Amino acid sequence: MAALETLHIGGVWRAAASGATREVLDPADATVITEVAEGGAEDTDAAVAAAREAFDSGPWPHTPVAERSALLRRFADLLQRDREEIALLESRDTGKTVEEGRIDVDDVTGAFRYFAGLVLDGSGGRVVDAEDPDVHSVVVHEPVGVCALITPWNYPLLQASWKVAPALAAGNTFVLKPSEITPLSTVHMIKLLAEAGLPEGVANLVTGAGDPVGARMSEHPGVDLVSFTGGLASGTKVAQAAAPTVKKVALELGGKNPNVVFADACATDESFDTAVDQALNAAFFHSGQVCSAGARLIIEESVRDRFVAELARRAAAIRLGRGTEEGVECGPLVSAQQLAKVEGYVASAREEGAVVVTGGSRPEPSDVRPASGYFYSPTVLDHCRRDMRVIREETFGPIVTVETFRTEREAVTLANDTEYGLAGAVWSADTGRARRVAGQLRHGTVWINDYHPYLPQAEWGGFGRSGTGRELGPEGLAEYRESKHIYQNLNPRPQRWFAG
Ligand code: NAD
Repeated sequence: MAALETLHIGGVWRAAASGATREVLDPADATVITEVAEGGAEDTDAAVAAAREAFDSGPWPHTPVAERSALLRRFADLLQRDREEIALLESRDTGKTVEEGRIDVDDVTGAFRYFAGLVLDGSGGRVVDAEDPDVHSVVVHEPVGVCALITPWNYPLLQASWKVAPALAAGNTFVLKPSEITPLSTVHMIKLLAEAGLPEGVANLVTGAGDPVGARMSEHPGVDLVSFTGGLASGTKVAQAAAPTVKKVALELGGKNPNVVFADACATDESFDTAVDQALNAAFFHSGQVCSAGARLIIEESVRDRFVAELARRAAAIRLGRGTEEGVECGPLVSAQQLAKVEGYVASAREEGAVVVTGGSRPEPSDVRPASGYFYSPTVLDHCRRDMRVIREETFGPIVTVETFRTEREAVTLANDTEYGLAGAVWSADTGRARRVAGQLRHGTVWINDYHPYLPQAEWGGFGRSGTGRELGPEGLAEYRESKHIYQNLNPRPQRWFAG
């Protein structure tokens, strides 16, 4: 495979039909890491045709479930073999630390192993009692067909794995389009799937821009399902493009996630330290470029001053730098565009009356290496109100806003006052209260006295405009299956409904 042959279509690595290429940048210093093929509509059509051919006439949809499961396990082993290489690739491409890259590889491995096991459960279908001894009735699962999988830049390999693993487990073929900003680990993934023995044409890859590649995938009549992870604006376009052909659509979109802290969670020095520490992780892990980031701290008024002061002190101490460097805790933002967006949100928050407690600017060039990277200082904004743009919109950067409440009811109202509904947390020493509040939060994942952990066994997805459908868990596999009811009359006789 030559450097620019990053399209994988029908088992062959190719350059773009147009010959176009795109530079992939290292966000830590804005230098070019490599170039990749910039696919277009013609390449997308070829990839869909290859996936269609592999689905309609290839062996994969009919491969015994146990063999499909074994292939996923082989692939998981290959991921672990290449763990360090992939972690480095992910770090250079996205800016995250290598340690975060390692965690991602382990999580991706876990997702593949989980679906490899899950698909074996009940794979023979479900016998249904027709309440008639002359009828044999069974519901079986079949693959949906050709899947269009579109992924974002913040967790390139992880987001791809939540789609690729269940799609393959269920017997589908697919065309995958990674974010044009971070395609490198996905290219590696496709190579490893071939090495694991996946038949040609089952996994197709088109590197390129959202429009035309993602747009063409979404509207293509040869595609049966589109699964998209990304922002609300692009997700809306995907749903619109998919509607005329009535393909199945799964959307994993953004979030504006509340981290609700009650005073009783800060009653002892130890619990105070834990709540602050986790609020820091919630907001600043991967520089806040996490769909479920705890970007809205909603805190009981009586502990606000002490909590915010300590949060700001620790935020200011976060060590920024190149993700591959020892001791670095946060890398740069992924792109110049993302940096400009974050700067815009802080400027608007200032204009609307928020108080910058720490951060609020790019670090001094002397404080971060390399100075040319897209770095932004971890920022705490106090005195925020629900009507501010920084509260309503997803900033997707190292910004945490602070709002206060006095009563449990007020806390719930604030936490639910968002068009999104992806994730949130509640911190309280009172288990009854914590569960009561968790039960009232209109978000797809709620943590109690924790932030960020997820399990491949548990569904992930959003209420409201955070999306439709679920990834992971049994529902994450169901997205990639059609249920078919086969009703067999063992003793057919005339019905005589019509007399003549
Ligand atoms: P984005 O919407 O800009 O891009 C996501 C993907 O969609 C990219 O591959 C892009 O090329 C493609 N795309 C863009 N326009 C398209 C179009 N018209 N048709 C089809 N595809 C198109 O998002 P991003 O900036 O890459 O990622 C950040 C967003 O992703 C955030 O909003 C974040 O919350 C969200 N996200 C959500 C989850 C989740 O699990 N819900 C996980 C990770 C990221």
